[in-house]
Amino acid sequence: MGSTVFERQRPSAATVDHALTGTRQAVFWLEDAPADSYPTLTASTSADLVVVGGGYSGLWTALLAKQRDPGRSVVLLEAKTIGWAASGRNGGFAESSLTHGEENGRTRFPDEYGHLARLGRQNLDELEATVRDMKLDADWERNGSIDLAVEPHQVEWLRDEAGAVDADSDDVFLDEAQMQASVHSPTYLGGLWHQKDGATVHPGKLARALARACADAGVQIFEHTPVAELVTSGLSRSEGVDVHTWSRDLTGRPTAATVRAKKVALGTNVFPSLLKRNRLYTVPVYDYVLMTEPLSSAQLDAIGWQGRQGLGDSANQFHYYRLSADNRILFGGYDAVYHYGGKVRDVYEQRERSHRMLAEHFFTTFPQLDGLRFTHKWAGAIDTCSRFCAFYGSAREDRIAFALGYTGLGVAATRFGAQVMLDLLSGHDTERTQLQMVRSKPIPFPPEPVASLGVNMMRWALDRADHHEGRRNLFLRTMDAVGLGFDS
Ligand SMILES: Cc1cc2nc3c(=O)[nH]c(=O)nc-3n(C[C@H](O)[C@H](O)[C@H](O)COP(=O)(O)OP(=O)(O)OC[C@H]3O[C@@H](n4cnc5c(N)ncnc54)[C@H](O)[C@@H]3O)c2cc1C
Repeated sequence: MGSTVFERQRPSAATVDHALTGTRQAVFWLEDAPADSYPTLTASTSADLVVVGGGYSGLWTALLAKQRDPGRSVVLLEAKTIGWAASGRNGGFAESSLTHGEENGRTRFPDEYGHLARLGRQNLDELEATVRDMKLDADWERNGSIDLAVEPHQVEWLRDEAGAVDADSDDVFLDEAQMQASVHSPTYLGGLWHQKDGATVHPGKLARALARACADAGVQIFEHTPVAELVTSGLSRSEGVDVHTWSRDLTGRPTAATVRAKKVALGTNVFPSLLKRNRLYTVPVYDYVLMTEPLSSAQLDAIGWQGRQGLGDSANQFHYYRLSADNRILFGGYDAVYHYGGKVRDVYEQRERSHRMLAEHFFTTFPQLDGLRFTHKWAGAIDTCSRFCAFYGSAREDRIAFALGYTGLGVAATRFGAQVMLDLLSGHDTERTQLQMVRSKPIPFPPEPVASLGVNMMRWALDRADHHEGRRNLFLRTMDAVGLGFDS
């Protein structure tokens, strides 16, 4: 079997041991963002719109609902705290793609890919305008992103991709010398710079700033208020939905309150859907992350990276990394882990093997940073669906809408998903609701034990492909042919 650069150029065990000494299991972004707290719902009420989930999906839906119709009453219900899940712990790459990249988009939606690419850019531009106009404190930096080639066959992939871009794109192919002039790593053989299609953001600050913007617009936010059930039986279409919650009051006594909602939008991501029919469409896949201490100016000089772009290498199992505002490096990805049974569990966030592998790959990438330490390590569950990009829909006579399955690329795309949910609830066809991407669904995952067999076989096959110049084996080619896949 061939080897990858991360196996050929391993750092010393001493370098990795030193870097991981004292690394805390905690999400840097959540520690580093000012938090407001919101009350728990203890008494029944009513609203024009109830939004379930206090991540980006729910927050954008609530904010945009108020912007579309300031007179509408909006209640947002969050099971724990605002942004605690994927929205507060991601890499912070805000990308224009709505389809998890160009290749996936062109393959799955060949007839409308150009349209989707334009809508994605428009979405990113509008997101940026909101951050600017509402003065959201979120460390937004529109520096683009670079796909990196770290093996010779990846140089050819990037060159081909650069040749296939659409007219609106300003992607630039960087050869080895140009790439090294931009960021110095002995692993880099070339790059594809997406100059305007990406930004980096502080994920925790973005979530909390969005919540503040929602509250300022009149959205009533409730934390520690899990929704248990959505009931429509016995209610007419105009009466809406009874949203049953359960929580605890200030003395710790369990309370149950109901919100009678005309409409409901679900931004519940990887967590068990309140619509049972959606449960087989996504599986949680754990993604691991490290954060370094801030780099000194000498350490920064040693790597260049003046353009501060988001970086990601191009293998099937890839790393993503970026600078924070205080010049730390976030380094994540590669090891995507599915646990039998498909549950979301805190205990899965601690996986020494994955964090150590990331640390090794970090020093293969930047050996000149020997001596640097990691201050934080964490993980999060990715809502993976078989088509790698979100799916949308409505239920119960259009009283309930959902957008799910962002598969690791939802920082910007959730804003588009929020618009789709509001369109679907409005009952009017729009440019968005007519898209094939919005009208079609992915193939559901089979139940256990087949799900875990399939997902683990897929991981094994992707790893083998990365060790064989990216060549996909029969199993992967079969999965490609039926439109099933697995990626983070
Ligand atoms: C480690 C990691 C790195 C990532 N990196 C990137 C990246 O760099 N770029 C990118 O574009 N994407 C990235 N993603 C994906 C991105 O973070 C997600 O797509 C996005 O945050 C999804 O937002 P959301 O609001 O749908 O979900 P979440 O942020 O998960 O929010 C869902 C919320 O719903 C609440 N909820 C669920 N069920 C209920 C219920 N019954 N009642 C009440 N509340 C409920 C949950 O408590 C949670 O707060 C990453 C994800 C992870 C885990």
